[in-house]
Amino acid sequence: MLTLEFAKPRDHGMRILCVGAHSDDIEIGCGGTILRLLSQYRDAEISWVVLGSSGERDDEAVTSAEQFLQGAWRKDIIVEHFRNSFFPYVGEEIKSFFEKLKMRVTPDIVFTHFRSDLHQDHRLVSELTWNTFRNQLILEYEILKYDGDLGSPNVFVHLDEATCQKKISVIMECFKSQQDKDWFTPDAFLSLLRIRGVESKAPQKYAEGFYCRKVIL
Ligand SMILES: [Zn+2]
Repeated sequence: MLTLEFAKPRDHGMRILCVGAHSDDIEIGCGGTILRLLSQYRDAEISWVVLGSSGERDDEAVTSAEQFLQGAWRKDIIVEHFRNSFFPYVGEEIKSFFEKLKMRVTPDIVFTHFRSDLHQDHRLVSELTWNTFRNQLILEYEILKYDGDLGSPNVFVHLDEATCQKKISVIMECFKSQQDKDWFTPDAFLSLLRIRGVESKAPQKYAEGFYCRKVIL
């Protein structure tokens, strides 16, 4: 299959914004893709925004982001404390945050939650991303969960096994507070990567899947 590349030279400072409702969402949804982009774009600038952290998860979020962003030329890690599971009910505050974020970053690409994600916090973040960033390439990532909202992504980023293992090992190492959750296991993360790899004929077996609603050729 003919693949697409971003129409930006690799030495022209790709600007990437990653937005996640909770402290491990970005890593789970697009961590492998970020690692791959950072290996390709040596002068990438990354803004990494976690909206709903609290307590020990603050440190986990920063430690993990630092690990994923080791290859970034410039990074800006923002950890906010909007109340988990209540995002739609404090939507005005979160909307105001997005308005300020728009003044702070001008990304080429935005990674955000899937529009049809069944977690209410994820869904609101996706909606506000689209409200806020009106002239950007937006890729929506997926998060495996009990609710069963996986769909059929239409954009795939192929990953090699080493990148997948790095993604999973950093997640498992950094987010100790999540390890009592039954879905928070290396095999669950690897399984989805493998499934998306099958769906996209990934030569090295693995891929992350995304939803892209607008793409310009
Ligand atoms: Zn989440």
